[in-house]
Amino acid sequence: MGESEVYEDFHDIPENDAYEEASKLIKNHKGKVIAFTGSGISAEAGIPTFRGKDGLWNKYKPEELATPEAFRRDPRKVWEWYKWRMKKIAKAEPTLAHKVLAKWEERGIILGIVTQNVDGLHQRAGSKEVVELHGSIWRVRCTRCGKEYNLGFGNVPEEDLPKCKECGGLLRPAVVWFHEPLPARNWMMAESLFNEAEVILVVGTSGLVYPAASLPVNAAVQGKALIEINPEDTPLTSLSRVKIKAKASEAFKKLEEMVS
Ligand code: NAD
Ligand code: ZN
Repeated sequence: MGESEVYEDFHDIPENDAYEEASKLIKNHKGKVIAFTGSGISAEAGIPTFRGKDGLWNKYKPEELATPEAFRRDPRKVWEWYKWRMKKIAKAEPTLAHKVLAKWEERGIILGIVTQNVDGLHQRAGSKEVVELHGSIWRVRCTRCGKEYNLGFGNVPEEDLPKCKECGGLLRPAVVWFHEPLPARNWMMAESLFNEAEVILVVGTSGLVYPAASLPVNAAVQGKALIEINPEDTPLTSLSRVKIKAKASEAFKKLEEMVS
């Protein structure tokens, strides 16, 4: 059977075969596997996703909070929202999916992770090679002098408007907001991980946020195998070699047993 037929027919593959196919790809490409993760991998840790059912944006408008314009207009409101999110994340523990990925890095199965998440849960689970495409909620940056501060996981600023210790300027979360470019260095590190990879585990991402989503899209176009793990279908589904229609923890529990 040709590759194209595999692509076309994967929707009909029974669930067990999808796990079989995925674990075979992972084992056969040991050390050439990476993960590309989105907020869905942290959903089971109690951190709301942006989109989908129960998504954060159902209650809040992103354009009012996660943009440079919003921060200029009302920094207090933006900080209030970030501190609410930080407190939520501070209470969260890495899920089984985060933990399996960390274990797989240690065992040389995966090379690293490119994440769109800002929560720090991959590192907390023990992953070392993590590219944070959209920054981290646990870092802040001075809007006047540009100095960055590492707050450390769980340390939520106390002030309403946190200020820079060097120059007194207003600090902002060191995350990528809508209308902002991605940090060039992180983008290059992400590209180099994708270049080395043959198999990409695409976990809990809607595939709607660009340019991040162009990484798995380009990989698929180059003939690399995407394994999508997501209870819903996304624009990346039809580009994937294997689709595991399940929550991340459930999928990694089975895969861990089959890959070991
Ligand atoms: P998204 O919110 O757009 O989409 C989430 C996806 O996860 C959906 O496709 C949904 O079906 C899937 N999903 C939900 N529960 C799941 C589960 N248990 N297992 C597997 N998949 C599940 O997420 P995104 O694509 O990462 O969107 C991007 C933006 O949201 C990023 O820029 C990121 O910075 C930001 N964000 C980050 C966090 C975080 O750090 N935890 C939280 C919310 C949003
Ligand atoms: Zn400063």
